[in-house]
Amino acid sequence: MSKVLFMNFPAYGHVNPTLGLVDELVKRGEEVYYFCTDEFKESIEKTGAKFISYGERMSALKNANRKGRKDKSHGKIIIKCIDIAEHEVEDILNKIKGIKFDYAIYDSMFCAGNIIAQILKIPSISSLAVFATIKEVMKMQYSPVTEIEIENDPTIFKAHNEANDRIEKKYSVNMPKISQIMSCRGDLNIAYTAKEFVANMEYYDDSFKFIGPPIYNRHENLDFPFEKLENKKVIYISLGTVFNNTNSDLYKIFFEAFGDSDAVVVMSAYNIDMSNFNIPKNFIVRNYVPQTEILKYADAAVTHAGMNSTSDLIYNKVPFVAIPIGADQLYMAARAKELGTAIVLNKDKLTAKELRESVEKVMADASYINNIEKVKEFFREAGGYKRGVDEIFKLKIEKGIKDYACEY
Ligand code: UDP
Repeated sequence: MSKVLFMNFPAYGHVNPTLGLVDELVKRGEEVYYFCTDEFKESIEKTGAKFISYGERMSALKNANRKGRKDKSHGKIIIKCIDIAEHEVEDILNKIKGIKFDYAIYDSMFCAGNIIAQILKIPSISSLAVFATIKEVMKMQYSPVTEIEIENDPTIFKAHNEANDRIEKKYSVNMPKISQIMSCRGDLNIAYTAKEFVANMEYYDDSFKFIGPPIYNRHENLDFPFEKLENKKVIYISLGTVFNNTNSDLYKIFFEAFGDSDAVVVMSAYNIDMSNFNIPKNFIVRNYVPQTEILKYADAAVTHAGMNSTSDLIYNKVPFVAIPIGADQLYMAARAKELGTAIVLNKDKLTAKELRESVEKVMADASYINNIEKVKEFFREAGGYKRGVDEIFKLKIEKGIKDYACEY
């Protein structure tokens, strides 16, 4: 049995895919200490891991991330991440004093995890809830700046340099490079999709393991009137939990597109104030819904093409229309289209008519479902969480982890 230090980024899209991995690690005898914010305590504890709360600062990071997306200021988010990482390192080290860990797993967007693994001199595993590289994402997304411009931005450079100096002085290790702050690598890199979903494998060396999508019963006790979906045509709409607040006009378009249809429309609207909207009678709108359960009833979906949601849709064989908003969503949507599994629409030019017709098309044209079935087969072959843990155990052998542990 090894002691595992797990440090995640507090967002559904980052925590959800790790729950099945942690469940499998615990089943195979590992003792997992899992750092996250209180919002995720219950779902983490259900896996058998020991939950440790980061405290308030990380909740602030989550909010900055949502707000930053709205402002489209990538630089501000990087600076916030540098600042939070520096402070979290100290906090986490205080909270784990006296516990000997054998290896660390951290979200690729949480670079404090990488710094801690260096300080503890233990093997590192990066959990990639966003697997597309920054280069690939930047090529496609809203950001007006390139990776090089970010590396050379004087404000980011200064913040990074100063934080790095302090970290180096105190712990004799370095902060990851600017380009890796939001995409930290480890000795092993685990991505929750199949390699066939990756557009260009040249960006990924052998340390990357594509284990397939996050298929796992999260046992979420979310109250939902499933009886209203029985024997009905069901359309599911979700723009996820990070970028869904960037343009409220999209919700108006959704209401207009499907308000008079014969379908029951389930719409997730995470942290969106719906009080100013006129919600049509055939809509069920909730802050957060049991997505994977609802997809069992869905005939079609409208999605932002987040990595998890794209996989959820393919796994549940739901034809979909993607309206990507930011980050890796443009990449995921483009790939879904390339594989013939979805129609992609431009959020800035979207009309209710176009959306309604596209949803009708993915439902009526069998090629979408046929291609979804092919991708689902790639997902199955990727091996899932069992393979993920096999890869972790291979790394343990390579690194000579047996009974020894490292104490800070
Ligand atoms: N999710 C859910 N119910 C909701 C909204 C989201 O269960 O109402 C889950 C979804 O299954 C996925 C995660 O939240 O696991 C969202 O991750 P994704 O990568 O799709 O998008 P993000 O929220 O990170 O943009």
